[in-house]
Formats: sequence, C-alpha cells, structure tokens
Amino acid sequence: MSDPTEPHRSNAPDTANRALLPDQETPLETRLKRMIATGGPISVADYMTLCLTDPEHGYYTNAQPIGQEGDFITAPEISQMFGEIIGIFMLSVWQQSGRPSPFHLVELGPGRGTLMRDMLRAITTDEAAARALHIHLVEISPDLRQEQQTCLADLPLPAEWHGSLKTLPDAPLFFVANEFFDCLPVHQWIVTGEAVHERVVGLDKEGALAFGVGPIRAYHARSDQAAPEKGAILEKSPASEAIMADIAGRLALRGGAGLFIDYGYVDAGFGDTLQALKAHGHADPLALPGKQDLTAHVNFSALADCARAELAKAEGSANPLTVPDPVTQGTFLLNLGLLERAGQLGTSKSHREQEAIQSAVERLAGPDQMGNLFKTMAILPQAVTIPPFSVG
Ligand code: SAH
Repeated sequence: MSDPTEPHRSNAPDTANRALLPDQETPLETRLKRMIATGGPISVADYMTLCLTDPEHGYYTNAQPIGQEGDFITAPEISQMFGEIIGIFMLSVWQQSGRPSPFHLVELGPGRGTLMRDMLRAITTDEAAARALHIHLVEISPDLRQEQQTCLADLPLPAEWHGSLKTLPDAPLFFVANEFFDCLPVHQWIVTGEAVHERVVGLDKEGALAFGVGPIRAYHARSDQAAPEKGAILEKSPASEAIMADIAGRLALRGGAGLFIDYGYVDAGFGDTLQALKAHGHADPLALPGKQDLTAHVNFSALADCARAELAKAEGSANPLTVPDPVTQGTFLLNLGLLERAGQLGTSKSHREQEAIQSAVERLAGPDQMGNLFKTMAILPQAVTIPPFSVG
C-alpha cells in the first residue's frame, strides 16, 4: 500500500526544489538548448511533446514512471477495487448495448497493465462477455508495453497492442482511459493586457531554459466566461481534443462507449497547471527534461464539448450517444459500490489488512484526496442508464 500522504499527479506545482536538483544537463536539455538557440523559443506544447515522447530521450519512451520505484502512483496501483469497479461499469454498458461481439475493450495509456487486469477479473464473471472479449492496449512506451504483456500473459484472451488509435478495428469499441489525457501536451497563453500571447520556453541570459512571452495568438473566450485578467494563464490541449473527437466520431459511426478518468476541472478556469513529478515529489517543469513526468490538468468541459460536437454531426445515426455531465471520481466510485466492495474484500482479513483497505477507500474517494480532484466523463449510448450518470 502506498503512502497516503504522497503527492499524486493532481497536486499544484511547487518549484521550490529547483535549486536542489543536481547540477547536470540531460541529453534532451542539451538538444533543446541548441534547438532554441538556433530556431527560437518553442511553445509549451512542443516542449511537453519532446519531454514526454521524443523517441530517443522522451520520458515515456525511456523511463519506468509508475510505482514505488518510479515517479508517481495512480489509482489502479492503490487498490484492485478501482479496476474492478470500472470493469463492472464497462460490463453493464456492454450488456445494455446489446452485447456486441467481439467485445472490443480498448485501454488508452494502460501503464503497468494493472487496471486492465483488475477490469478483466470483473468482466469475465459474465461468461458470454469473457468469450466475446478482445482487448486492445494503446501504448507509446516500449518498456510499459512489455510490462503489460507480462501482466496479462496468463489470460487466455486475444490482445493487441497499438501505437495510436489509427489501427483500432472498425467496430463497436469500449474505451477506458485513466490518467491518459493529462500527459497530452497543452498550449499555454498568457494575457498581457491588450492581447493574448503564446507562453513559450526559451533561454535566459545564462543560457538556461526559461519561460517567456511569445507571439500574439487569437483567443476566443466562451460567452459564459469572464474576460481573463492581465497576467492570467490560459491552457488548451488541441492534442486531447483531437483524440476525443476521434473517439466520439468512431462511437457515433459504429457504436460502443467510453469512460475517461483524470484529474482536472469541469468549470473552465484560468491558471498554470503544468507540473512535474520526480521520485514521488514535485519538481520544476523546466528541470531535467525527459527525466521527469510532466502533466497538465484536464479541461473536462472542453473534452465534453468536443465529444458533443462530434456526436451532433452524426445526428440521426444508428448509434445515438450522449455525453452526460462529468462527475467526480468519488461520486462515481461510491455510486458503483466502492464501500460494498471494500466490505467484501475485508471479510475475514486481519485488522491491518482491513485498515489498508479503508485507507485505499479514503485515498480513492475522499473529498480531500483523489475523490474531488479527479473527474469521470463518459460517452454512453442513449439507451444505457447507469448511475451516477444521468442520461437523457
Ligand atoms: N493508466 C495507467 C497509466 C497512466 S500514466 C494507470 O492509471 O496506472 C500514462 C500512460 O499513458 C502510460 O502508460 C504512458 O506510457 C501512456 N502514454 C503517454 N502518452 C501517450 C501517447 N501519446 N500515446 C499512447 N500512450 C501514451
């Protein structure tokens, strides 16, 4: 069981430890500095993309990020109950969707494979679902792919790995993603008074990486938003929105559903949510490029709008779908029986084990832990009714 006081990826950034970092330059840092010196500053989104997915020096393409040995802990690594509950949810959605066969279960960014394994334990309690299952894992990291293969090796199920969504089958798909969208790049814009400028990564006088103000960008505030104040930072993740639009488009065409969990916000807000995690502590996002995790909070309103817009294009389709308002992770897990599952799991266990289960419940659903910060968004067939999502 992990330390409940440990920061998870949703906490606000704390850059105080920059001075404590070893005086070393990563290979990617050397390359970035050369690139910027010759080509000029780069957007925060390009900086994130290079740090996370550069084929040679990117964090996800080279490191072992998750778990006690890595840099952060995620909900499936806290307790098996998380994956089991999501499994029960996906099974009910499949059952209420007319049980399409094959049952293509797709996980985006499956980490160590723990969530998939726990989901499958719950889903395969339905024999017809077990027979129809075909699993798909969309993963960019070669090391994590290997871990997933090992984790799932003893399960007698057809499984395929994909580098992106492009190669997924043209069939009803049931998507799950936990802490996937937060590692997709965000653009940051800074309000300078009259205009909105791209926030960029450049070099300071000493030649170190530094944030700066870049070219003017067009910004269209939503009509329900107050105008941002001078100095405010706005974020947008076109990469996340493009993936959500792709998913919604596929579902509208062929059917299926999606469940997306991440830390983020539903009421559009302004602010810098870019953060770095290293060895279970906060770090400066500009330190050690490629050697630490970089994330941003997920804008669930933007993702829900994007999915709804895509579904609206398919108005009158044979697979009418809906995007209910996102709910908190705490609401989702408690509605789907987290306390009952905890009680079941604790039966005839030692006092210490029961305490560990209780602490996992707190961590996953407690309002001051992951319960409120993490949100759950679903794309569901209109015919499906599953609390806590009000479908209409
Ligand atoms: N879902 C897991 C892991 C979250 S970490 C869990 O909850 O434990 C993010 C995961 O997304 C990792 O598996 C990472 O390698 C993967 N990932 C990051 N960027 C990706 C991309 N662009 N395409 C596919 N997978 C990506």
